Amino acid sequence: MIESGIRVIDARTVKPPPKAADPELQTQEHRNWARAVKQRAGWRCEWVEGGKRCEVRSPARLFADHIVERRDGGALLDPMNGRCLCGSHHTRKTAASRAARLANR
Ligand SMILES: [Zn+2]
Repeated sequence: MIESGIRVIDARTVKPPPKAADPELQTQEHRNWARAVKQRAGWRCEWVEGGKRCEVRSPARLFADHIVERRDGGALLDPMNGRCLCGSHHTRKTAASRAARLANR
């Protein structure tokens, strides 16, 4: 075996962070739950602001959100703890939950 001295250089300037795959979210049960939540919502974001529901719907990417997040004690597979959100509302909600969590520490 001869060492060539040539190294493979990863030219990407920013490597994607390693996927933190949450095993709880990888189960068939959770996929079924997420599908049921989105289906119940009519494949449309359920965020309501000022009495008006968000218009974003499939084929835009939708997220089955845990209303009470699991780390805050919310149930993983309870349909009542699920809500269909578009990407921007899911991001907002996740940030708000995090801020509330930090404030309550
Ligand atoms: Zn939305």
